[in-house]
Amino acid sequence: MDYFADHIPLLRPWIDEDELNAVAPVLRSGWITQGPKVHEFEKEVGALVGAPHAVAVNSATSALHLAFQVAGLKPGDKVIVPAHTCMATVNGFMLAGGIPVFADIDRRTFNLDIAAVEEVMDGSVQAIALVHQIGLPADLDAFWHFARKHQLILVEDAATAFGARYRDRYLGGHGNPTAYSFHPRKMITTGEGGMVILWDEEQAERARRLRAAGASISDFVRHQAKGVLQQTYPEPGYNYRLTDLQAVIGSAQLRKLPKMLEARAYQADYYTGQLRVVDEVQPPYVPAECSHCFTSYCITIPKGSPEIISRILDDMAADGISCRRGIQPLYREPYFQESHQGMYLPNTEAAAAQTLFLPIFPGLTRLQQDRVVKTLIQAVRKHVPRAMSA
Ligand SMILES: *Cc1c(COP(=O)(O)O)cnc(C)c1O
Repeated sequence: MDYFADHIPLLRPWIDEDELNAVAPVLRSGWITQGPKVHEFEKEVGALVGAPHAVAVNSATSALHLAFQVAGLKPGDKVIVPAHTCMATVNGFMLAGGIPVFADIDRRTFNLDIAAVEEVMDGSVQAIALVHQIGLPADLDAFWHFARKHQLILVEDAATAFGARYRDRYLGGHGNPTAYSFHPRKMITTGEGGMVILWDEEQAERARRLRAAGASISDFVRHQAKGVLQQTYPEPGYNYRLTDLQAVIGSAQLRKLPKMLEARAYQADYYTGQLRVVDEVQPPYVPAECSHCFTSYCITIPKGSPEIISRILDDMAADGISCRRGIQPLYREPYFQESHQGMYLPNTEAAAAQTLFLPIFPGLTRLQQDRVVKTLIQAVRKHVPRAMSA
């Protein structure tokens, strides 16, 4: 009996025989850590997004760390970043010595707002962590020009946005170092995993060394050479390796990507259509130059508050539907409380107080979506104060 038969989860990775069948030969081969399958997976992703170098690692956090380090971020350098993101974005560049400078987001896209970034810009800023939040590309053109003008390192955090497109190119294909996550919460998954896209040969070589203890030659190449090659260590590194076991799962997931994108676009469209009749709910906004990959489907309740969102979440949970409150401002995390006391970014605060995520994942049925919509509308009508006009 399926205990969760009647439960609608927020998300569920799409794993089937494809992944199971991919893993068995790797286990039998005897080479299970980083090896030829990781190399193949990197080639596939690079070809898909149209980028010259793709370096697979064990998480997007690691990918961000490597991206900032090889791009030349130095300890003490300031990095502009939205506060409307998870700690991992900030962890990524703080590991490379960066210090966050939080800037506000655009009210409609929930991504960094160029005007807000100009406000916090000063001579000590060396980089931007441009987050493409919950599957929607940020305003890349504006930030590319801004970064060029001020000679800043521009790193794209596309952890949640693998498969999203900006001006008809996949994120990662726009010339900047870019990080993806393959955590089950994201678009495609390898259990844990990530990848960094790089455009400079030397930076890519360095990232490959850094992910594997700093060694000049990978385990697999050394093994193939039967011990004739001796690796050296030009600098200390990390253990950020992805395994061949994970890479074949990634390749199998990649073959499903078109279907995943299609399923999510279809589901998002359906929610948006069904929710159009409810004035209290705003569906996600997608600028014309972007395609959203809908890793999450985020609604806004303009009259919402943390308490109202709590009540809606409770009603959804009572009907067996898992939803989630929107992203909370990072500057309120205990780590930043002292250094950022009193900080208040209005659009970041509004997003935190008024948004929630609905279930979306390949395999979510029309019937389940109808139930989500019905329960949501009831909860909203019950808990959100009606407009006084009309
Ligand atoms: C999930 C996430 C990350 C971190 O990904 P991991 O693979 O778990 O390290 C970084 N940035 C954003 C925006 C994310 O959503």
